[in-house]
Amino acid sequence: MTNVLSFEWKKEDYVTISGMIDESSDFSELFKKNHEVLFLDLKNIHRINSSGVRKWVLALDKLKDVEIHYINCSFSVVDQLSMVPEFLNKKCFVESFDARYVCENCNTSQTVTLVVGFDIQAGEKNYTDGPERLCPNCKQKMEFDHNPDSYLFFLSNLSNKKKTAI
Ligand SMILES: [Zn+2]
Repeated sequence: MTNVLSFEWKKEDYVTISGMIDESSDFSELFKKNHEVLFLDLKNIHRINSSGVRKWVLALDKLKDVEIHYINCSFSVVDQLSMVPEFLNKKCFVESFDARYVCENCNTSQTVTLVVGFDIQAGEKNYTDGPERLCPNCKQKMEFDHNPDSYLFFLSNLSNKKKTAI
């Protein structure tokens, strides 16, 4: 398996980034055009190590004038969003992210993509639970399978200027 990060442009300003982010990650693909807005689909980022975090923060610094939308953030991306404040500069917005739910009644587990401003609101002081989800199998209420305090912490730092104003 290779660690090379892959960039797949779906549209002019929408790119899916896949792989592991580490010291060898090269983000120059994102600097090739002078984007005003970038949509980064991060569903397939399966791991970010500490050198990768630095690489990402440096890349963000180069993109500081670009409005960045994080879409479909994977678990590993969400962990970093909540632990490393530099992952969210003033022009970054998180559109959606993954969360795992488990049903204690029938042991079903499910990964759900939560849309910020729709499933869950940004800008709350603290988060004590994820939004309610019913088990697809037995229809009981599922448990949010993360510590909401830490996993959802990034939402507190997120401006709720968008969407929530509806
Ligand atoms: Zn169930």
